Amino acid sequence: MIEGQPLLGRVALVTGASRGIGRAAALGLAQAGAHVIAVARTVGALEELDDEVKNIGGTATLVPLDLKDYAGIDRMGAAIFDRWGKLDAMLANAGILGALTPLTHLQPKVWDDLLAVNLTANWRLIRSLDPLLRLSDAGRALFVSSAAAHYNRPFWGGYAISKAALETMVKTYAGELTGTTVKANLLNPGPTRTGMRAAAMPGEDPLSLPAPEELAPLIVELLSPHCDVHGELIHFREPPQAIPGRLL
Ligand code: NDP
Repeated sequence: MIEGQPLLGRVALVTGASRGIGRAAALGLAQAGAHVIAVARTVGALEELDDEVKNIGGTATLVPLDLKDYAGIDRMGAAIFDRWGKLDAMLANAGILGALTPLTHLQPKVWDDLLAVNLTANWRLIRSLDPLLRLSDAGRALFVSSAAAHYNRPFWGGYAISKAALETMVKTYAGELTGTTVKANLLNPGPTRTGMRAAAMPGEDPLSLPAPEELAPLIVELLSPHCDVHGELIHFREPPQAIPGRLL
């Protein structure tokens, strides 16, 4: 391992790599030596990411994909197997906020999309990519959750329910990995300066929040082969308890 490059020669997939936390993580993983498979819908943003990865001496493969296209996830898994024969790291980060509204007002399409992107797509990623993580000598999977999963806060139901279900799924998956070299964990990033946070908290000064880049070292650590943490929900910062306005 080269100093500062714990992921040298390894293959790391990042969903939601076009902006926000996923983009910063993709750059951090590339900096740490990984070849990054960058997944998102916005092609232009993926291309800009690719330019930036090249600027820091890294490499990336771009996968323009709507994660609601579950068959597309399966095709991606097959393509990764054909090209690399394994997957060393996966950051399942892509997510949507939906609408902050009472459960009785939530539109069925918004509910369906929340569960599709925040939950079912991550299950489909596990289903397609678990065999590839097991083919790595030290497969690592990290799923991005939210403190909202634990607040049961009015108006946040759709998002919070999808994240609570994600946490149950990942902890269950972690239990099923016993006896393998694969480790799976959850990350609660805490309020972070991204488009999603601005949509949730329009009155907040974005500069009062940590930039997504600040999360990258922790994400790199949790996806590194030497990291033995398993089945945990890791908080980037201590989750604020019952502080109004600190919900995400
Ligand atoms: P952003 O809205 O900034 O970015 C979301 C990312 O997800 C984008 O890259 C977007 O790419 C991708 N994405 C959304 N829908 C799809 C889809 N259908 N198919 C493929 N990609 C999709 O969000 P953040 O960076 O803030 O959030 C990242 C994660 O962190 C989320 O899971 C969020 O719930 C969680 N989180 C964020 C917090 C915060 O304060 N920011 C706090 C707690 C948790 P594109 O649109 O190009 O497809």
